[in-house]
Amino acid sequence: MTVPSAAVKRPLLDIPFNDWFKAFELEPKDSYRVRQVHTWVFDRRVRTFAEMSDLPETLREKWEGTFRLRTLVLRRREVSAQDGTARLFFETSDKKSFSSVYLPAKGGEGDRSALCLSTQIGCAWGCVFCASGRVALERNLSAAEMVEQVFWAEEAFGRKINSLVFMGMGEPLANFTNLVQALQVIRSPLGLNYGARHVTVSTSGLVPQITMLAQTAPHVNLAISLHAATDETRKKLLPKSSAWTIKDLLNAAWAYQRATGRGRVTFEYIVIKGVNDSVREAQRLANLLRAKKAWVNLIAYNPVEGLPYQTPDDATVREFAKILTQRGLFVRLRKPQGTDISAGCGQLGEAVRA
Ligand code: SAH
Ligand code: SF4
Repeated sequence: MTVPSAAVKRPLLDIPFNDWFKAFELEPKDSYRVRQVHTWVFDRRVRTFAEMSDLPETLREKWEGTFRLRTLVLRRREVSAQDGTARLFFETSDKKSFSSVYLPAKGGEGDRSALCLSTQIGCAWGCVFCASGRVALERNLSAAEMVEQVFWAEEAFGRKINSLVFMGMGEPLANFTNLVQALQVIRSPLGLNYGARHVTVSTSGLVPQITMLAQTAPHVNLAISLHAATDETRKKLLPKSSAWTIKDLLNAAWAYQRATGRGRVTFEYIVIKGVNDSVREAQRLANLLRAKKAWVNLIAYNPVEGLPYQTPDDATVREFAKILTQRGLFVRLRKPQGTDISAGCGQLGEAVRA
């Protein structure tokens, strides 16, 4: 018998759960085997079928030759001396590199650990303030490659990760089909079983895909990278995603909120010195969002090597936040994390050092 090479073996996590029974070529009387594989993969976290000791040898061998349980290798990790944030460097089976960022719980009450997942290698959206946007899109990550980031991170840190945020490299909604498959694995009780409130997808604002996400995917929180209160400023900062107007983007966001019920929409706003940090801009932003009492995450710009932008001082960011709060918005000031190892928001550029 010829054993298929690793390259032709199908990553199991790329296959929707509903299709596992068929893919495994089981007799109906043996359908309980599917459940056994789920337990081995998600609860016991085995990396090979050979380890599934309650399955018959013949099935283990057959499936080992047909499917892959892991496609990534965790090459290296770098931990921030500043705050314990860790950057994980992965290598794909086609020898490409990318990373995710682990944000440890800081021990305070209600504090949670989080993993910032990547969805593409590079990004085609070219936002002018972002390191990922400077790396040409090489390819989409598969659903298996997205989910495996969670597996490897939990194993590396020996604990369950509380929240997953799709805010690493890439534009999740530009890799829609794989994202939806990954979300299904992440949300399903047969998979990683994350609650809707613990999964957040961040987008630079692809309006048609936001609508599709509301219809097709298991519900999750949506974060919209707004970063500007006028179409004019947004066009300068996000040249491609400003193909849609702020008005259309907000309408899609409110529709998402309505369709998903509890799924919350938050707005991300990077405050960049002299670009979008004025009192006028804060007032305009408040006017856009006040009717909905929206949540805004304010992020002081994280410096990216080679880019001309600057971080505003604390007082400016606090003043900006105050204007929003006074007008009824909920504001969270996101502290920069892991900036000493280039693991902060928007700092995930090339990861070729893996
Ligand atoms: N493509 C998606 C998700 C990845 S970017 C998106 O754009 O939303 C994740 C977050 O990092 C976004 O809110 C993005 O705007 C932010 N970000 C990018 N560059 C940044 C920088 N230099 N400083 C701070 N945040 C940045
Ligand atoms: Fe891509 Fe998001 Fe960076 Fe824009 S901010 S370049 S969409 S990763």
